[in-house]
Amino acid sequence: MIGLGIETSCDETSIAIVKDGKEILSNVVYSQVKEHEKFFGVVPEIASRSHLIKINEVFEKALEQVSLSLNEIDYIAVTTRPGLIGSLMIGAQFAKVLHCITNIPIVDIDHIEAHFYANFLERKESPTYPFLGLLLSGGNTAIYRVDGLNQLKMIGNTQDDAIGEAFDKAASILKIGYPGGPVIEKYAKNYYNRDNQESFFGKILKDSQEITFSYSGIKTALLYLIQQNPQIDRNKVCYDFQETCFELIIRMLKKAIIKTNIKHIEAGGGVLANQRLRELLNHLSQEMNLKIYYPSNKILCTDNAAMVATLGYYYFLNGYRSNLDFSVSSNSFYKSLNS
Ligand code: AMP
Ligand code: MG
Repeated sequence: MIGLGIETSCDETSIAIVKDGKEILSNVVYSQVKEHEKFFGVVPEIASRSHLIKINEVFEKALEQVSLSLNEIDYIAVTTRPGLIGSLMIGAQFAKVLHCITNIPIVDIDHIEAHFYANFLERKESPTYPFLGLLLSGGNTAIYRVDGLNQLKMIGNTQDDAIGEAFDKAASILKIGYPGGPVIEKYAKNYYNRDNQESFFGKILKDSQEITFSYSGIKTALLYLIQQNPQIDRNKVCYDFQETCFELIIRMLKKAIIKTNIKHIEAGGGVLANQRLRELLNHLSQEMNLKIYYPSNKILCTDNAAMVATLGYYYFLNGYRSNLDFSVSSNSFYKSLNS
């Protein structure tokens, strides 16, 4: 079965063609990083215009790479939530137009759920449940309990910034580049004098009974630190910042594992590209005897349409088809476990 995936929820325009939910035939990703660089963050108006300009070209490339014609495609999977409304609309309209021309059925997809399926795609496995979904990206920082297709319950979320967003804002305060994640990781790696040095952010993390994240406090602490010490060692600041941000992830993940007794974790999102985070997760996996998966290919960590086509495959197999009047939403429909 051949699926065409469409992803335009934020700042990547991506179209992919995937066979049987497991084999990537093409996965074209146009990243808008250069267009948002000078603003140190994604500007929604620029993002939606850029999707509109690029989507035809991305579509043609995705088809060219596989030398398939449209009538060989069985379903169209398109991200319709959550994300930037103007950006989501470009992908959704594109899917509707394709449907009108070809009559290929559409499957509307939740972007958060799709991230977890990038792992099954890469492992070429069918999904098994239950698992904990850990999503760490520019727009999301959350843990979900996943009991099946369309059965997600949020068990922890951020109260303010997403972790990737915090990395981007920190790098903007430090004036070291955009996107913040890779550049902070690079500076942190340069910090060699790690022994017996107190962290600049040692007192930021408070003990909490709840499974919850917050990154605005550390961002403000970083701002004051730089204002008061303009000559401070950037490498150490980045190292301490990164360690503290990840410490919170590991603490909350542990709590979620203990609370649910689920030892199978599927992680995704752009922040999973970070080598240090991968190390910490691998360490936790050994310590608690867990199965933790994240995409080894960094393209599959960040937003991409292959994961959308893969999740669409399982919905399509289950007989799901969207009505043509579907709309887009800035929010996910998946609610918290307690609501
Ligand atoms: P996404 O929202 O999934 O497209 O991922 C983009 C986010 O991932 C941005 O906020 C980046 O700063 C972050 N990111 C990308 N690479 C890294 C990295 N190596 N370390 C930490 N964060 C990263
Ligand atoms: Mg992105």
